[in-house]
Amino acid sequence: MNQATRYKPVFSFEFFPPKNAEGVERLRRTRQRLTALQPAYFSVTFGAGGSTRDRTLDTVLEIQREGRAEAAPHISCISASRGELLDLLQTYRDNGVRRLVALRGDLPSGTGGRLGEFRYAAELVAFIRENFGDQFKIEVAAYPEFHPQAASAEKDLEHFRQKVAAGADSAITQYFYNADAYTAFLERVRAMGVGIPIVPGIMPITNYTQLARFSDACGAEIPRFIRKRLEAYGDDTASIRAFGIEVVTRLCARLLEDGAPGIHFYSMNQAAAAEAIWKNLGLGELRASA
Ligand code: FAD
Repeated sequence: MNQATRYKPVFSFEFFPPKNAEGVERLRRTRQRLTALQPAYFSVTFGAGGSTRDRTLDTVLEIQREGRAEAAPHISCISASRGELLDLLQTYRDNGVRRLVALRGDLPSGTGGRLGEFRYAAELVAFIRENFGDQFKIEVAAYPEFHPQAASAEKDLEHFRQKVAAGADSAITQYFYNADAYTAFLERVRAMGVGIPIVPGIMPITNYTQLARFSDACGAEIPRFIRKRLEAYGDDTASIRAFGIEVVTRLCARLLEDGAPGIHFYSMNQAAAAEAIWKNLGLGELRASA
């Protein structure tokens, strides 16, 4: 890592709300380990359609109560009413939450297709600003490899610009393994006048089957050289993890060298891979000397 990266990047970790008591305990242990890395915040995902509403809220409130790291709930608008969103936002605000990840969300199958009053994340961002002014810092999603439902790459960029114009403070990207996709995305949105920080979202590689399934759904490309190596490891999870840590460390190092404003780790509620990448990157030392 060169001297150019010696500023204070923002690091954060994403969790999903656990489904049962065992998951809650596991996440507590993960959080304890990751808190030691002093992240800027922990974000907690939200099942579009409200399927995890209470579990997301419980997880966020537990982090807030603990007071050792900031919690940032994800909030999605696709099948919510204004009244439901207002209630939830007020609850978060009254519990000291100051940062949100504002999304459209994907309608889960089996919800009966209730679409709600908002169609796009830009409308949610505008609604939050209208009702809460600057009480929340708002993160939005960005797609260096483009959103899978976008009518075209150009339109997707324009829709991203609209989200920022509606009041987003910064963005977190969908995960990617091709650093050039991030660089090209940045160049294009900067040329459109978008100046907010765009933090790479990074998915550590620990399980190939799961990664392939997620990537198909969200449109993130797994480069052939990674896919072929992971396929060849079969059930050898130790080799998958070791190779995953190596590849993702290299990706993060390049992004930080190129000036990325931080990293958002999709932790999948696990600490080990993110910790290993963190250590390889020397981020503890970087923070201590910043
Ligand atoms: P938008 O920005 O609204 O874009 C969605 C699509 O609509 C894009 O194709 C865009 O080009 C298009 N579009 C936007 N505006 C217009 C317009 N005016 N006219 C026509 N087309 C338009 N999902 C969850 O359910 N829960 C989570 O907690 C969650 N967390 C996430 C966190 C991050 C960092 C990321 C990157 C994604 C997350 N997702 C989550 C997934 C996300 O909800 C999906 O990718 C969803 O399909 C799009 O959400 P968005 O906020 O990016 O939508």
